[in-house]
Amino acid sequence: MGIGGVSILMYHQVGDFAPMKSHRSTYCHYKSFSRQMHLLKALRFRVVDMDAILDHAKGKRRLPKRTVCLTFDDGYENFYQYAFPVLKRLGLCSTVFLLAGYIGKDSTWFREDGRDTPPLMTQERVNILMESGLVTFGSHGVYHKRLGDLPEDAAHFEVFHSKKTLEAMFKREFKHFCYPYGSYNRAVMKMVREAGYHSAVSCARGAVWLGSHPYQLPRKAISYGDSLIGFLWKLLFKNRRKHPEL
Ligand SMILES: [Zn+2]
Repeated sequence: MGIGGVSILMYHQVGDFAPMKSHRSTYCHYKSFSRQMHLLKALRFRVVDMDAILDHAKGKRRLPKRTVCLTFDDGYENFYQYAFPVLKRLGLCSTVFLLAGYIGKDSTWFREDGRDTPPLMTQERVNILMESGLVTFGSHGVYHKRLGDLPEDAAHFEVFHSKKTLEAMFKREFKHFCYPYGSYNRAVMKMVREAGYHSAVSCARGAVWLGSHPYQLPRKAISYGDSLIGFLWKLLFKNRRKHPEL
């Protein structure tokens, strides 16, 4: 542990889901989500973007202990439908990691394990969210691949081509990267830096401290089963890093 731990929360889908048996950490019922966001507001947590978190890790800026960054992986249409209205009403900023090869398509990479393939946001949707000024977007690669397991040229394509494509499509810089499945290695990290990203988030649980590595920032997954107390507990206490930095 170190100085000034702040939390990056990780969400995937937010919506109206019946209880599920597996992959619970990638679903959040919209009613739970709303309660969680209202709790952040009531407890006066500061909600910041990835730039602020990165400045904190680098010692350029000191964030108070009750600071949180909200991240959403994959860019589902249900973010627009269920999460954004709550965030907008409460004036909370968030970061969504998009897949360059799946804009406006279904999440068909789930087919291999027999899961549903919910739709991802279209270019138009993303533009609306960008105009709100509340949502920033990062890259999650092109085709949702385990970068740590790919041959170097394929990983290079995911990291570089996603940045180029997303920036051309949306006419703005994509500064932050998110490893699909939290899978990366030293070579992938080097690519992410060389591609010009300022940071990358993983799925390792823990808080971000002064001195945390900018290309392996930990996050706390909020799970379908988390009660409001459980949510608060994760926020305040699950700060020790579960897997060490590479
Ligand atoms: Zn993902």
